[in-house]
Amino acid sequence: MRSPVHRCRDTERGRGQAGAASGMGSNCLQPEQRIPISKDVITASSASAMWFIKDACGIVCAVITWLLVVYAEFVVMFVMLLPAKDLTYSIINGIVFNFLAFLALASHLRAMCTDPGAVPKGNATREYIESLHLKPGQVVYKCPKCCSIKPDRAHHCSVCKRCIRKMDHHCPWVNNCVGENNQKYFVLFTMYIALVSLHCLVMVVFHFLYCFEDDWTKCSSFSPPATVILLILLCFEGLLFLIFTSVMFGTQVHSICTDETGIERLKGETGKWKKVPCWEAMQVAFGGPFSLSWCSPFTGLSCKKNPEDHVTVPLGKIIEEDVIEIPLSDHSNMEESFLNTTH
Ligand SMILES: [Zn+2]
Ligand SMILES: [Zn+2]
Repeated sequence: MRSPVHRCRDTERGRGQAGAASGMGSNCLQPEQRIPISKDVITASSASAMWFIKDACGIVCAVITWLLVVYAEFVVMFVMLLPAKDLTYSIINGIVFNFLAFLALASHLRAMCTDPGAVPKGNATREYIESLHLKPGQVVYKCPKCCSIKPDRAHHCSVCKRCIRKMDHHCPWVNNCVGENNQKYFVLFTMYIALVSLHCLVMVVFHFLYCFEDDWTKCSSFSPPATVILLILLCFEGLLFLIFTSVMFGTQVHSICTDETGIERLKGETGKWKKVPCWEAMQVAFGGPFSLSWCSPFTGLSCKKNPEDHVTVPLGKIIEEDVIEIPLSDHSNMEESFLNTTH
């Protein structure tokens, strides 16, 4: 016989609105009954390990991203800068372009290979819940897909096959989810790609003007038709990426500022948590008070350095129910409830 507290299933649908979900009885859990579990008790045990999503589509998209940057590098260096007569112009633009491209690719690598904030898989066990020392009446949610205890504002990603804290969206271009731990790198990636695209477009315009004024056969080491085709393709690529990454950058900064992820906006889950002010949210996302390190993909986030973040998850048999409420009565009742769910 089941304990009366274990009766609501399908928490993905009912999350935050369990009482209103269809097919649920009047005894089901109300949203206000759920007390969020703080981040320091449920966290990614693999935060320090190498993170890479084995998704064919994502890997292809990530490789395409790198190839497009390599193509831009080739055209900028071999079609525009090296044949240019003005050495100062070539050196300055060469340094600026390569610096921005390097930071864009470094941000891409960090966004791709950083754990976005994955919740430990399969920690919905009796032993683990007991180790949390939850108060009677407190409610926790289990993800039915990866069998993990879901912290507040975590969502399951079907590509990563994990629950991700403050998941914004899964981006195939970085072959990873954008979440709490790697949003900074994703924002930097979109910013540097937008800047490098803008720089490319300016250089293409200057090169066209230079070639029109001068002899077309002398303005490039390639034939005039090849030069025109290569420049038009770069122009097209630059425009496309400038628009796309600028919009993404703006959306991400807006998400951070409003303390509201893309998925939360999509699911209409806004206003269910205490929002932090814009500047504070920016400091959390970028790992500390404003400094040059905000623009660096090489500085980590201070939250990941907190040793309390890395707790050992006790192993045990996974609890079957998707909503787990700590019984209000004594400990023996709690034992019985757990036994009811595990058998
Ligand atoms: Zn999950
Ligand atoms: Zn994902």
